[in-house]
Amino acid sequence: MSDGAEDLRLRRVVIVGGGTAGWISAALLARALGRQVRIVLVESPEIGTVGVGEATIPQIRLINTFLGIDEDELLRAVQGTFKLGIQFCDWHRIGHAYYHAFGEIGAPLGLLPFHAYWLRDRSRPDAADLWAYALNAQACEARRFDRRQRIGTSPLSGLRYAYHFDAGLYARHLRRHCDGRVVEAVEGTVIEVERRAADGFIAAVHLRDGRRIEGDLFIDCSGFRGLLIEGALEAGYEDWSHWLPCDRALAVPSARQGPMRPYTQALARSAGWQWRIPLQHREGNGHVYCSRYLSDDEACAMLLSNLEGEPLAEPRPLRFTAGVRKRFWSHNCIALGLASGFLEPLESTSIHLVQSGLGRLLALLPDRACAPALREEYNRQTRFEYERIRDFLILHYRATERRDTPFWRDCAALPMPASLAHKIALFRAGGRIVREGEELFTEGSWLQVMLGQGIVPHAYPALADTLPGPQFDGFLADLRTLIARAIADMPAHERFIADHCAAGTGA
Ligand code: FAD
Repeated sequence: MSDGAEDLRLRRVVIVGGGTAGWISAALLARALGRQVRIVLVESPEIGTVGVGEATIPQIRLINTFLGIDEDELLRAVQGTFKLGIQFCDWHRIGHAYYHAFGEIGAPLGLLPFHAYWLRDRSRPDAADLWAYALNAQACEARRFDRRQRIGTSPLSGLRYAYHFDAGLYARHLRRHCDGRVVEAVEGTVIEVERRAADGFIAAVHLRDGRRIEGDLFIDCSGFRGLLIEGALEAGYEDWSHWLPCDRALAVPSARQGPMRPYTQALARSAGWQWRIPLQHREGNGHVYCSRYLSDDEACAMLLSNLEGEPLAEPRPLRFTAGVRKRFWSHNCIALGLASGFLEPLESTSIHLVQSGLGRLLALLPDRACAPALREEYNRQTRFEYERIRDFLILHYRATERRDTPFWRDCAALPMPASLAHKIALFRAGGRIVREGEELFTEGSWLQVMLGQGIVPHAYPALADTLPGPQFDGFLADLRTLIARAIADMPAHERFIADHCAAGTGA
């Protein structure tokens, strides 16, 4: 630094928490910042991690690319399987199922998105449903998988996929990956947060054994308790339970039964829903429910009676309130993971929110002064991302024909954020899906869930009429043939795993 100006460069980043959020933060920050910044991660052996978080979305693969992690090695280490989407059963009405499959629907054609033309012809007697034109959905049905990026010379991209994994093993794998880099892991329990008198910034955290850990920037990954962001800085929590009323979950592993599905299942229940997540060594299960409509004992009995294999442990209870911190970044502290907010795992978004928060933090990387403009921008962007995911989740509950239990009757009458009401109105009016800015979910995601939940447009975009019917018929027939061939060429999901990434094999 010249002119005697104070050197404000970041020297020490302290991460509090060694769950999934803490270790993703440590690995990504270490890789991005290199040796110029020292990273210390504090984790408490006395306070465990949440230990759930087994389903992901495709963006997680970017972490591998960034860190140089080999996919097969990762899947072996975390007992992982591939995920092509989510199957929603009994959400629209009992007995009905649909996929929210990753990847494209149809293929590029004309001026409009594929679904505009499909909507035009969808009521013809010979019309196939939308998912007949989604490679991922067809691979889910066939329980097949491969990793090719393109389907031959066709306009079709290959499968878009994410992972199912054991969350504890994933954190451990990232930890191993950090070894030898610039992360110092400290075991200890934070009992006090020391703040500077002048500006209220966090100066250090104090551990029970008397150690004092100083930092310039603090990342709060301490889980639901939000030890720094709430405990010390009182950022405040905005409760969204009037929109998303489920407030409890029970999680239990079970023995694996039958062929491995390449998708998560979300099965609607009388006052919530149940997840089934296939891993190599077991199945992950959980029941998310609303305690106003169902007792813990009833929820537990319902979960246990709907397992496919024998339970391997006692169900583990978890409590939460849907919502977000009023400020995600306050002073010199950024909250990530459960410390930043909670949206139920219906669309497996929590781990992604850690990753995207880190991306934003790196783009806005502050010096030790943490300029207010940077904090405001981070908070604005993070809030936007959370709100749009919230809207997407509400859609699953709000657009339902179910009226069979008090819970579902009340869900159908839930209030709607204006942003969601607008999206639904646009779709109803003419099949249009408008995404703003950096929204996480794609047009294809909104389309599948709106149609899957029974929202049918009254009309289709007028421009769709410019494509002659016979030309579109030929296109659809070719597409179905291509998809059928591509699926026939893929090995079974289980076979692919056995050949490439079965736990306990390989180097
Ligand atoms: P935690 O796992 O709670 O870790 C907190 C860490 O802070 C621990 O290491 C603890 O030791 C440490 N700590 C706490 N207090 C102190 C202290 N005083 N001193 C020192 N250290 C301390 N996400 C998904 O992406 N997909 C899913 O399918 C999914 N399913 C979920 C299902 C449920 C029911 C729930 C509740 C969550 C789910 N999530 C899912 C979210 C996911 O589990 C979390 O986002 C993820 O595990 C990150 O958790 P975390 O690291 O923020 O918190």
